[in-house]
Amino acid sequence: MKKNSTSPIIAIDGYSSTGKSSYAKMVAKELGWKHIDTGAMYRAVTLYGIQNFSEGNIIDTQALVSHLKDIHIDFKFNPETQDNDTFLNGKNVESSIRDFSVSEQVSLIAKIPEVRDFLVKQQREIGEKGNIVMDGRDIGTVVFPYADLKLFITAGVDERAKRRFLDFREQDKSITLEEVKENLKQRDYIDQNREISPLVQAQDAILIDNSHLNKEETYREILRIIKERLGG
Ligand code: C5P
Repeated sequence: MKKNSTSPIIAIDGYSSTGKSSYAKMVAKELGWKHIDTGAMYRAVTLYGIQNFSEGNIIDTQALVSHLKDIHIDFKFNPETQDNDTFLNGKNVESSIRDFSVSEQVSLIAKIPEVRDFLVKQQREIGEKGNIVMDGRDIGTVVFPYADLKLFITAGVDERAKRRFLDFREQDKSITLEEVKENLKQRDYIDQNREISPLVQAQDAILIDNSHLNKEETYREILRIIKERLGG
């Protein structure tokens, strides 16, 4: 696959709860580029499945796949958060796609080949014009293998669970640290072991392990790499 535009693409992949979406957003703001959180797209499809094709806690994946054409995902800039909000069929779902019920199901939905084809096509359409920072699991390996810069962010599971737990505690006090950690481990396992586009570091990606770095230190390191590799 060849790159169509001369405008740069930065791919940020890595494990759940490493802060990659926050860093992607900060980088995009700094550069005046667009930011797309592809995890939000998998979450939106999962939410649609929960709302329309689930009984108990189980999504009817066949029904979901046959209705993918009814799912329209848009991003609109929110000046308050200085980032994109995710819209599902015209409705702002930025908050509900972050619910724990969605986190519990999303990796099972993201391993369905038809779902990946459906979303990767849209991600390429959005990103191919360049001047974009896109974050996810397969951006540097599958969506934009020719990205100008690829970062892969990781951190120990205990660190990531603690960070995610603090986020969740603001919305839902009933979730325990153990549940959050178990969910992260399960998602890591499914994401790394799925047949299509598993979570793996691209050969030419730069690894950042932020287990022992705080937010500011991680961001400084990312900016240093961008400056070194892309100039400016
Ligand atoms: O990034 P976030 O944790 O919100 O992503 C939610 C889930 O979406 C991941 O655990 C993974 O299963 C899936 N995903 C994916 N490919 C991407 C982005 C997210 O499979 N590019």
